[in-house]
Amino acid sequence: MTRTVTLPNGETVPALGQGTWYMGERSTARVAEAKALQRGIDLGLTLIDTAEMYADGGAEEVVGEAIAGRRDEVFLVSKVYPHNASRAGVAAACERSLKRMKTDVIDLYLLHWRGNHPLSETIAGFEALQKAGKIRLWGVSNLDTDDMEELLATKGGTACAANQVLYNPGRRGPEFDLFPALRAARIPVMAYSPIEQARLPRGGALGAVAKKHGVDPFQVALAWVMRSGDVIAIPKASRIEHVEMNAAARDLVLDAEDLAAIDRAFPPPRRKVGLEML
Ligand code: NAP
Repeated sequence: MTRTVTLPNGETVPALGQGTWYMGERSTARVAEAKALQRGIDLGLTLIDTAEMYADGGAEEVVGEAIAGRRDEVFLVSKVYPHNASRAGVAAACERSLKRMKTDVIDLYLLHWRGNHPLSETIAGFEALQKAGKIRLWGVSNLDTDDMEELLATKGGTACAANQVLYNPGRRGPEFDLFPALRAARIPVMAYSPIEQARLPRGGALGAVAKKHGVDPFQVALAWVMRSGDVIAIPKASRIEHVEMNAAARDLVLDAEDLAAIDRAFPPPRRKVGLEML
C-alpha cells in the first residue's frame, strides 16, 4: 500500500522514508549501506533523510552513492548544523552537502535544532538558497511549541514545510500541544527514531498486536507512527531485511482495538512534556 503525506505546497511525499544516522561511519560498510538505501528506493521508500552532522558528512556521501543515476526518484532531506545556520553559513553548508551527495538540489533542508543564530537569519539564508535553486523547501527539526510559535511569527516563517521530531509509542509528548499546533499551521511532522533505535519493547502491547496481525512488533510501531496520515516516519536500516520489513509496515492498518491496547501500554500525554531529543 502506498501511503503519502501532503506537504503545505500540495506536493505529496511517502509517509515512510529512510533515515541515515550512523551510516558512513565505517568505510567497509558503505557499499552495503548504499545498497540498503537503494533497496528502499526500489520499494518506494524514496524520501531519504540525512544531515551534514552524520558521520561528518559521510552519511551524505553514502546517500550520494545510493541515488547516483536516480536522483529524480528521490525526495532528499538534509540538515544544517545550528552553528552553521547564519545567512552566509547555510549557503556554505548547503554547498558542501550538495557536493557530498553529488546533486544540485536538496528537496527539503532543515535546521537541525535551534542554536544561537536568530531564526530570521536562518530563514533569510534558506530563502536565498531557494531563489538560487539549491533547495526546494525548508523546514526545522527539534523545535518545540514555543519555538514553533516564534518561527511562525518571524517574517517568512510560515513557509516552514516540516518539523522533524522524536516520536514513537514511547515518546508521545508532542501529541499534547506540538502536534495540534503543527496541524493548525498545516505543517507535517517527520518522526525520527520511530522504533527508538530498535530499543522499543518487543513484548507487551506491541508484541500482542503484532501476533494478532502476524507481523513484527517494530512494524506495528511504524504503522502506529504513520496512523494519522500527516506524520512521516523515517526509520534507518542498514540491513536489507530490515528495509524490507519496514516497507511492509505500510500494509498494516491498525484497528481501534489495536490502538486502544497501545494507548494502555503507552498512555498519551495528559500535560505538557518538553520535547525530547536523541
Ligand atoms: P530508528 O530508525 O528508530 O532505529 C534504527 C535502528 O533500528 C538501527 O539499528 C537499525 O538496524 C534498526 N532497525 C531498523 N529497522 C529494523 C527492523 N525492521 N527490525 C529490527 N531492527 C531494525 O533510529 P534513528 O536512526 O535514530 O532514527 C531514524 C532517522 O531519523 C535517523 O537515521 C536520522 O535520519 C533521523 N534522526 C534525526 C534526528 C534529528 O535530530 N533530527 C535525530 C535522530 C534521528 P540496522 O541499521 O542494522 O538495519
